Amino acid sequence: MAKNALNGHKDWPKMWRSPEPREFYDIIIIGGGGHGLGTAYYLAKEHGLKNIAVIEKGWLGGGNTGRNTTIIRSNYLWDDSAHLYEHSLKLWENLSSDLNYNVMFSQRGVMNLAHNEHDIKEIKRRISANNLNGIDSLWLSKEEIQKKVPIMNTDNLRYPVLGASYQPRGGVARHDAIAWGFAMRADEMGVDIIQNCEAHQIKTKNGKIEGVETSKGFIRSNKVGVVASGHTGVLAETAGIRLPLQSKPLQALVSEPIKPIINTVVMSSAVHAYVSQSDKGELVIGAGTDSYNSFTQRGGFDIIEETIRAMVELYPVFGKMKMLRQWGGIVDICPDASPIISKSDIEGLFFNCGWGTGGFKATPGSANVFAHTIAKNEPHQINAAFSLERFVSGKLVDEHGAAAVAH
Ligand SMILES: Cc1cc2nc3c(=O)[nH]c(=O)nc-3n(C[C@H](O)[C@H](O)[C@H](O)COP(=O)(O)OP(=O)(O)OC[C@H]3O[C@@H](n4cnc5c(N)ncnc54)[C@H](O)[C@@H]3O)c2cc1C
Repeated sequence: MAKNALNGHKDWPKMWRSPEPREFYDIIIIGGGGHGLGTAYYLAKEHGLKNIAVIEKGWLGGGNTGRNTTIIRSNYLWDDSAHLYEHSLKLWENLSSDLNYNVMFSQRGVMNLAHNEHDIKEIKRRISANNLNGIDSLWLSKEEIQKKVPIMNTDNLRYPVLGASYQPRGGVARHDAIAWGFAMRADEMGVDIIQNCEAHQIKTKNGKIEGVETSKGFIRSNKVGVVASGHTGVLAETAGIRLPLQSKPLQALVSEPIKPIINTVVMSSAVHAYVSQSDKGELVIGAGTDSYNSFTQRGGFDIIEETIRAMVELYPVFGKMKMLRQWGGIVDICPDASPIISKSDIEGLFFNCGWGTGGFKATPGSANVFAHTIAKNEPHQINAAFSLERFVSGKLVDEHGAAAVAH
């Protein structure tokens, strides 16, 4: 370390190679976020497939993976979602050791506040459903909340705090570490990770994948997995497919760093603010989506204003703090607030998208079952319910309640 410091940090080994694209790959993954890189990792590790490229238009983790508030939990309502998110949570629990890279997963618990009778009924129903699925989820009274988060104002606000659900195994992780960890290990197994390579068009012929037209030329391939979050809908259209997705900005912001003040994650969908404290001491605060579609990675000022208002009402002690920075990411939202992990009508074309405001928690689980879907040409039993077919059959997986972010 001392040598590198004296050298101006020029000799550190590269974390992954920067290859030029080959003419042909068995599989191209479009999107170098956590889900795309994880898919390549599991394809190589669990399915022995190595002739894979991940193409990323910018830098790894520069999309929503590096822009999110990193809340991880699995307390979703329906069995299909509970199994998917719990599969992911179990992978998170062993991920640092699996990747031999610290993803800083901190299981400090996640609380979802109830502010009215409807919240109480909905949250208690979800707790029961979670428990039936073997997921740790419990009801906290107002007094128990106050013990855990003494700085919270529970009574003197427009929507008083009446109780909360609590998942002790939930928590937060380091956002870009998961992208870097997957990238390093996939690269070691021979996956080509190609940054600054934008997919312009998905090319098909006679109902089959031909390859991808990119900013670095045409790359042939037998299979293509599109994992481009808010831009997935745009890419699908280049292959003549209209996905049921809305792309909207979702914002977050962080405060100046302070000493430890909140040691769990607290979410409120009614007044709309969620908060945790980073290891650096910053409050990491999440907002809701803009009400209109957009591709600006910024978001409307009114949304941030509303979130800050809710924060200050819930935690008056934060009233004098300074906010350091604010940003947005483009999230892709399905009508039922559940993801798509699916084959398509075009042979060799697969989609992993629709994670909306809540896909960070699902990163390893989603990547794991998507790799299975691509390798075997059929879904893993965990993602069977999340196919495109559900928008034809009407068998939607409505998770608007558990999604916990207004959109
Ligand atoms: C502000 C905010 C807060 C959030 N908070 C949470 C949270 O607390 N918990 C949670 O679980 N989830 C949260 N989410 C959602 C979560 O971030 C996403 O669902 C998840 O990170 C999606 O990962 P991904 O790998 O699919 O997408 P991304 O990380 O966005 O990766 C997609 C990649 O595709 C690339 N790409 C796009 N188009 C092209 C192209 N044409 N060619 C090549 N590459 C392309 C992009 O540059 C990007 O790097 C939040 C999101 C935001 C924006």
